[in-house]
Amino acid sequence: MKFFRITALVLSATPLALGALPAGTVQAFDSPLTGVVIAIDPGHQLGNSNSKFAAQMKQTKFNGTIVKSCNTTGTATNQGFPEATMNWRVANDLKKILESQGATVHLTRTMNSSNSWGPCVWDRGAFGAKVKANLMVSIHGDGASARGYGFHVIAPAKIKGWTSDISAQSRALANSMISAMKTSGVAPSTYLSNPLSVRSDQSTLNFSNVPTVIVELGNMRNKADAARMSSSQGQQFYAKALAAGIAKYLQR
Ligand SMILES: [Zn+2]
Repeated sequence: MKFFRITALVLSATPLALGALPAGTVQAFDSPLTGVVIAIDPGHQLGNSNSKFAAQMKQTKFNGTIVKSCNTTGTATNQGFPEATMNWRVANDLKKILESQGATVHLTRTMNSSNSWGPCVWDRGAFGAKVKANLMVSIHGDGASARGYGFHVIAPAKIKGWTSDISAQSRALANSMISAMKTSGVAPSTYLSNPLSVRSDQSTLNFSNVPTVIVELGNMRNKADAARMSSSQGQQFYAKALAAGIAKYLQR
């Protein structure tokens, strides 16, 4: 959908004297994402690891290729900083950036609490269409062997009756994210041969009816990635890179 106008990318909106410019000028310059709706999925929930929610976590659903459970706890840094919290903070930083550019932004969860669980992956996946989003980005951190670092992106494989409607656009979104993240200075994964993985087993992707990708920002078990993921400065850095990827996709 190209009903919006993108004339300039302004990451931090410059305050303008509203009276000084004709109507519409400010919008075109300062709010390149006006009219765009973006869904962000901060993967997992802090309380997914809370044993009192074990029954909820055990719910299952077929996702087009396999049966998967509701959700998982996610990983953590060796210092114990949880993935759910990293995802949550980056998602909220990203939301602010996108909103400053005029976008409407919806998150799949409204809190990060050890007293809360989910939503399940099938509800996360269906969320983008529910809020009539142009696209959905799911934010995660990986838990790989300590030596490897860097980001990778997962796009949905084409599954008839499930993702055939979104697989090509999702692939374009994945390529835009990869390109913009590299340009922003986030290193591509050193432990995968390609920063793009196309997978058929991810419920969050398979249940989506809008273009979608999962971005694994880095390896939480790697010292350097973990330090960046745990700091507010690092979280802001990732959010800016994700925003650049979304803008790149929308500008095509
Ligand atoms: Zn995750």
